[in-house]
Amino acid sequence: MSSNPSSNATEKPPIIWVNVSLFTITFLITVIGVPWYALTHGFSSALVIGLIGTLVFAGLSITAGYHRLWAHRAYDAHWSLRILFALGGALALQNSALHWASDHREHHKHVDDNDKDPYSAKRGFWYSHIGWMLREYQASRYHDYDNVKDLQKDSIVMWQHRHYLVLTVLTTIGWPIALGLMVGDVWGSLILVGVARLVLNHHTTFFINSLAHIWGKQTYTDRNTARDNGFLALLTFGEGYHNYHHIFSADYRNGIRWWHFDPTKWLIRLGSWFGLTSNLKRTNGYQIEKARLEMQFKKAKEKAQISCETTLATLHDEFDMVVAKLRDYYQVRKQLLDLKRQAMKQNMHLPSMAELKQKALTLRTAFEQQQREFAQRLQLALRGPQAN
Ligand SMILES: [Zn+2]
Ligand SMILES: [Zn+2]
Repeated sequence: MSSNPSSNATEKPPIIWVNVSLFTITFLITVIGVPWYALTHGFSSALVIGLIGTLVFAGLSITAGYHRLWAHRAYDAHWSLRILFALGGALALQNSALHWASDHREHHKHVDDNDKDPYSAKRGFWYSHIGWMLREYQASRYHDYDNVKDLQKDSIVMWQHRHYLVLTVLTTIGWPIALGLMVGDVWGSLILVGVARLVLNHHTTFFINSLAHIWGKQTYTDRNTARDNGFLALLTFGEGYHNYHHIFSADYRNGIRWWHFDPTKWLIRLGSWFGLTSNLKRTNGYQIEKARLEMQFKKAKEKAQISCETTLATLHDEFDMVVAKLRDYYQVRKQLLDLKRQAMKQNMHLPSMAELKQKALTLRTAFEQQQREFAQRLQLALRGPQAN
């Protein structure tokens, strides 16, 4: 290694030619081959439907299977669903579920640490998007599966890991050929459903590691680079609410509001109605709201650069009052939900419910009132100490 202090270029690890060739060739076929084939032969509507169906199947296998089920254990899934995810994951060509989950757990544990986070966003867009897979950056820990010991007990995960290569060939090449034979256009299917679909699956997943750490709002925390971005959620089957995900990663949801586009969450929820998924984990509403309020307060303080000690102390007191009111409301809300669940289970009517509902409503109004007063106080502080 050079002793020249001006040379900060530590030798780069060797290039992984298999990956470089795969990403380059599939990308070139997609941007050149697809338009050429469309102009000279055309794609049938059956193939376009095949493209969309395969894209969604492989994409959801990564988000609902690899990510939320296996990497985060956010819910449990029936063996039939796990087999589908294992096949869809091989079709998405993103390594085995065991390997993927191991990398992803490192990403969460050491997020933004350039040495330990496998796709640290602090190393730039290119590196976090695709660069991390082009060289032997992970050589030292490639076969270290210590952080996924729980998954090694899942026979479907291990079956997929052992037979990954065969499953990949069967799904990524075998399936487009089979579809092509069915619709009478094997080359068209290989180009569109095989290659272009793979490129779309790859880059939509890669966006979560790159763009979702660069572009969007830090709604719940600024302790890492993860961002919430509704537009990215559209491209990533709901994984765009990445700021929420990094702080509450055990939650089976990424988009927590009903209007948030999160088809992965909908699929998991839908599965629970048919007994295919169970034990769906959700973060307590109080913790979510508290994190959001803390972040709002922090941003306002930074923006105003409030230097007056008295103003700051008053604001902190008021903030504590808002959080206390929030806690009171959520405590009663939890009691109410527990009672409802109990009543539903035992098929009985509980007379105390009406009283509790009223109490919850009163506490919610009190919290909202306190929150408004705090916002006004913050506005005054933002205008400067004289205004106080
Ligand atoms: Zn992330
Ligand atoms: Zn995650």
